[in-house]
Amino acid sequence: MRILFTLIAFLFIINSSFAQSEDEITLRQIFDNVLESDVAYNNLAYLCHETPGRLLGSDESIAAIDYMKSYFETLGADSVFLQEFKTPAWKCRSTAVSIIKKDKKIRLRADALGPSPATTDEGIIANVIEVQGLEELKKLGEEAVSGKIVFYNRPVNRKLVNTFRVYGSAIDQRYYGPALAAELGAVGVLVRSVSTRTDTFPHTGSTQFEEKKIPCAAISTVDADILSQHIKENKDLQLSIRIDAEDLPEITSYNLIADIKGSEFPEEYIVVGGHIDAWFNSPGAHDDGIGCVQSADVLRIFKELGLKNKRTIRAIMFMDEELYQSGGNAYAQYSEINNIKNYIALEADAGGFTPEGFTVDASDSIYSIISGFKGLLEPYGIHYIKKGGSGVDINPLKKSGVPLMGYRTDSQRYMDIHHSAWDSFDKVSIRELQLGSGCMAGILFLVDKYGY
Ligand SMILES: [Zn+2]
Repeated sequence: MRILFTLIAFLFIINSSFAQSEDEITLRQIFDNVLESDVAYNNLAYLCHETPGRLLGSDESIAAIDYMKSYFETLGADSVFLQEFKTPAWKCRSTAVSIIKKDKKIRLRADALGPSPATTDEGIIANVIEVQGLEELKKLGEEAVSGKIVFYNRPVNRKLVNTFRVYGSAIDQRYYGPALAAELGAVGVLVRSVSTRTDTFPHTGSTQFEEKKIPCAAISTVDADILSQHIKENKDLQLSIRIDAEDLPEITSYNLIADIKGSEFPEEYIVVGGHIDAWFNSPGAHDDGIGCVQSADVLRIFKELGLKNKRTIRAIMFMDEELYQSGGNAYAQYSEINNIKNYIALEADAGGFTPEGFTVDASDSIYSIISGFKGLLEPYGIHYIKKGGSGVDINPLKKSGVPLMGYRTDSQRYMDIHHSAWDSFDKVSIRELQLGSGCMAGILFLVDKYGY
């Protein structure tokens, strides 16, 4: 009897180590393929060079969707389609901010926040007050703020190691600052760019208005320091802000969806995606052209290697993560209406640098299965699979109980480039891009194979 048990245990060990090595072989094939492929890198070059500033509602956003659609068709995806939806949008044509001196104007490098209202052609001219945050502005109150331009100038906290926390240390000024200033009677707002660098690139982003809207823009960190110095020297300093922008009440836009059909459970969808839109001032390389081309590369890898996915692998190029998150919400709604079973969703929208790990937003039992794959991906740079958030575009699927994941990279350079003209193609390493595609394909291959 004892011999029989030993034999069974021995066979089990042999069998599981065999299964293990089979997975190791497949992962090696994935990385052999991806590390010699420049397809995703070339796709990203197109998005950055031919469709920069592809904000929701722009011609560039549609050109980017069209380009990736023909890519998926050429790849031979089993189905490629546009998921149409309607949404408000916003357009910014130009931003001009200047310090007004007696004899001259000093131009500051600025980009409007979305969705800032336009000014008249002459622009706003008013005195400026500098504050270090929302609390200080509240304390000053209506009397001090009314009729002025408010300048939020608190820098990010650079002592923090996690750059998303660095971002979080100052983002309240951009996100809530204009609405609060408007409530207190201000006529315009400038915000110090939320960036880890001291440079001349304005970093835009979205702001949340209540009822009242006032023109608002971000200025570069160098220009914020210049402005602050001028305010110290002259308490009655005047500024002018001119913004040419427009609210579009309703437009038609699209998410782009491409599928590689599953062999056993074709009605179950393993979603992988990034967002195709980018701010009007940015080529959108790391945010988030790279997440799109890597997601598209996952399909290419499955197809070229014939990985025989049991479930359908679905790549989604989400529209409008940046302004109103209309694409992510529209896909969740479309899934609900059409009873789409999204088996799991993975989003890549945290920069395309050296891979670090995955975060998982799912039940403990699903998390423990996925985190068990870490060892297999460690040779390719995955150091952690931990509980955490996923991504803005797939988050609306959470209410239907879809397990969610986020792809994470070394983010130390991300906030330097994020939402600015500095987020250009030359900041992308082909090796880091390829490793990311491989890690995403690898983990989804394992999730599909073992299920939950
Ligand atoms: Zn993004």
